[in-house]
Amino acid sequence: MSRFDRVLVVDWSANATPKLGADSIWIGSAGAGAVAPRNMPTRFACMEALRTEIAAAQASGQRMLVAFDIGFGFPRGFAAHLTGRAEALAVWDWLADRVEDDARNANNRFEVAAQINRVFPGIGPFWGRPNGRDLPDLPAKGTAREGHGLAELRDTEALCAGAHPMWKLYTTGSVGSQSLLGQAHLARLRQEFTDALSVWPMEGDEAPIVLVETYLSLIDPAVKQAQNYPCKDAAQVDLLARAFHHADMTQLMAVSATPETLREEGWILGAGHAAHLLEVLEPAPLTPPRLRNDCFAMPQGVDWVPVDTALNRLRTALHPLTAEEDVDIKEAGGRILTQDIVARRANPPAANSAVDGYGFAQASLEGNGPYTLPLVVGRAAAGQPFGGEVPRGYAIRILTGAILPEGVDTVVLEEDCASDESRVAFDGPIKPRINTRKAGEDVVAGAIFLPAGRSLTPADLALASALGVGRVKVYRHLRVGVLSTGDELLADPNSAAQPHQIFDANRPMLLEIIRKWGHVPVDLGHVPDDPVRIAAALDNGARACDVILTSGGASAGDEDHVSRLLREKGNLSSWRIALKPGRPLALALWQGVPVLGLPGNPVAAFVCTLIFGRPALSLMAGCGWQEPQGFLVEAAFTKTKKPGRREYLRARLDAEGRVEVFASEGSGRISGLSWAEGLVELPDGAETIQPGVMVRYFPLASFGL
Ligand code: AMP
Ligand code: MG
Repeated sequence: MSRFDRVLVVDWSANATPKLGADSIWIGSAGAGAVAPRNMPTRFACMEALRTEIAAAQASGQRMLVAFDIGFGFPRGFAAHLTGRAEALAVWDWLADRVEDDARNANNRFEVAAQINRVFPGIGPFWGRPNGRDLPDLPAKGTAREGHGLAELRDTEALCAGAHPMWKLYTTGSVGSQSLLGQAHLARLRQEFTDALSVWPMEGDEAPIVLVETYLSLIDPAVKQAQNYPCKDAAQVDLLARAFHHADMTQLMAVSATPETLREEGWILGAGHAAHLLEVLEPAPLTPPRLRNDCFAMPQGVDWVPVDTALNRLRTALHPLTAEEDVDIKEAGGRILTQDIVARRANPPAANSAVDGYGFAQASLEGNGPYTLPLVVGRAAAGQPFGGEVPRGYAIRILTGAILPEGVDTVVLEEDCASDESRVAFDGPIKPRINTRKAGEDVVAGAIFLPAGRSLTPADLALASALGVGRVKVYRHLRVGVLSTGDELLADPNSAAQPHQIFDANRPMLLEIIRKWGHVPVDLGHVPDDPVRIAAALDNGARACDVILTSGGASAGDEDHVSRLLREKGNLSSWRIALKPGRPLALALWQGVPVLGLPGNPVAAFVCTLIFGRPALSLMAGCGWQEPQGFLVEAAFTKTKKPGRREYLRARLDAEGRVEVFASEGSGRISGLSWAEGLVELPDGAETIQPGVMVRYFPLASFGL
C-alpha cells in the first residue's frame, strides 16, 4: 500500500483560452475520497481546486501526493546559467516573477521563452510558436536552433519512450509551454504552503503534501483498454492516480541519479517503472473465500431451532461464492454488481431545455410583459448545439434536450408564444430558469449511483448508460445443482410406473425456482437411496456447481442416506427446525461446496426453499440477504395453532381481498401448492385465528416467484 492516503494526478494544459473536454485540464484522484476525474476550464480553476484539496488533506491529517504531467526541471546547465543556481526550484521562482497568466488563461509564455533564449548564446534553446506570433528570439522550427549549448533531453526523459524535450513549446506532444506555466503556478503554491509541502525529488518526500512530475503515457496500454471515460485525458489521470496509489512508492522513488542531477533536472515519477504501474492496475481477480467447515454448526444444546435462529445462523455462515466478470451494460439486466458504480459524467451533462420553445436570458425581460424579443438566426436542438452566444435582449428557437446556448438561462413554452420568422412574443411573468434542466441536477459526476450488491433492473440499465457506464463488473452467475433422492422416484413422467413408484416432482419445481431467481440451474438428476450413487452425484455436483440442493433422505430415518452420508463425509449439521411444513434441514459442505438438504415432501421442499433457500442463494450470489415482504390481511379461515413452531399455510386472496387457505394441510398435497398464490405465516407462539383476524400474507411475488 502506498504511503500516501490520497493521490491526485493533474493533466495540466497550456491552453490560451478556457477549455473543457479533451486536451484540457483534468484532475484524477485515488485513495481517500476519490472521485471521478474532474475537468477544469482554466489553470486558475485547477489551482483553486488544488488549494482546496491541500487544505482538506491538512485538516484531516492525510498525506497527499500531487503529480503533474509537466517537467519540473530542464537539462543540466540551464538553471545555473539563467539564475546563478544549479537548482530547478530557482527556475520556478524566476518564472513566478515573470510569467503572467490570467483567470481566462491569457498568458505570456512565448514572450518569456524568447526572453530566456536571449540569455543563452546562439539560437534557442526554446522553439515553437503559433503562426503569426513574431518573436525574433523564438525560432518557429527546432532545426533553426544552434549554439545554445544545452542537451535536448533530461536524464529522466531517456527512460520514457516518446517523451518530448522541454524546449518544444508548440504543436503535438509539446510539454515546454505547460511546464513554463506550471512551474510558475507551483512556485506560488510552494510559497503559500511552505513546510507543509515538498517538491520531489529536489526536497525529498517527507512533507505531508508532495508534488511530483509524471508522464501520463507511462500507462498507455491500460488507457487504450479503458472504458467509460469521457476522453483519453480523463482515463489517464484516473488510472495513473490509481496506479500510484497502489504502487510500491519506495521502489518508484528510489532513483539512481546523482543528487546534482535530481536537484537540477528533477525526475519523472514512474520513469522506468511502467511495467510495475501497469501490473498494479490489473484488478486482482475476485476469488471468493471458501466456507468454513464448521460454518453450519448450531451451538451445543440447541435442539429445535426456531426459524429466526436458523435464518440468522445461515446469514452469518454464508457469503458470496462466485467470482467477478465484466459484462456489457446491455447484457447486465438481473446481474449483481461487485463494485459501486460511479458516474463518469453528470446527468444531464450540460444545462438544457426541458421543452420546445424559445430561450433567452431572463434578465433581458423588463417590466411585467407582454414581451417581444427579436430572434437570432439559427436554433438549438438536441444533438445540434447552437455554437454562438445569444445576446442580451434576443431569443432563440430551442427544442427539448438542446444545450442552453451561451446567453440563455430561461425557456418559454412554445404554446405560450406567438412568433414569426424574426420575433417571438409572450406574456409574463416568467420565472428565471423556468423550463430548463440544470447540469447534474439528476446525478453529479463522481457520485456513486448504484451500489455493490445491487441486482440491476431495467431502469438501472438506463441510468448507467446515461451516466456513461458501458461495462460493469458483476458476479458470475451462481450455479445451483438440484439432486433428487429416493428409491421410489421415477425421473420421467412419460414412463410407465409401478404402484410403488412416484414421479420426481421436486426437481422440475426447484430447477424452475432457481431459474426465476436469476441463478443457473444445474440438473444433477435423481439417484436411488444408495450411498455410493449419492456420493457420486454429489461429487459431480461439487465440480459443476457453487451450491447443491438435494431433496429427500434428509431426516434421521433408516433410509435417510443423504444425511448419513453427509454426516460421515460432509460435516453435516442437521437442523431440526421448528417449522411446519419442513422440519429437517440438512446443511453440509461436500468438497467445500455447500449442500442444502431439503425435505422430500414437495410442499415442505417448496416452503423450505422459499424461506431458507432464497435468502441463502441470494447471499451466495452476491445480492445480499433478501427478506420477503409480507402484508397484514384479514383472514377468511379458522385455525387453532399450538405453540412451538412457525407455520406456513398455502394461501391466496379471495374475491373480497381476504386470505383463504388450502383445505388440507397435508404436506404431500401438491395440488394445494399449485392452487396457492402465496403463504400465510403463523408466528411461533399459539394462535387462534377467526375470520376477520389479521394475518401476515406473503404473495409468491415477494419470494421472487
Ligand atoms: P424423504 O424425505 O425421503 O423421507 O421423503 C419424504 C416424502 O417425500 C416421501 O413420501 C417421498 O416419497 C416424497 N418425495 C421425496 N422426494 C420426492 C420428489 N423428488 N418428488 C416427489 N416426492 C418426493
Ligand atoms: Mg426418501
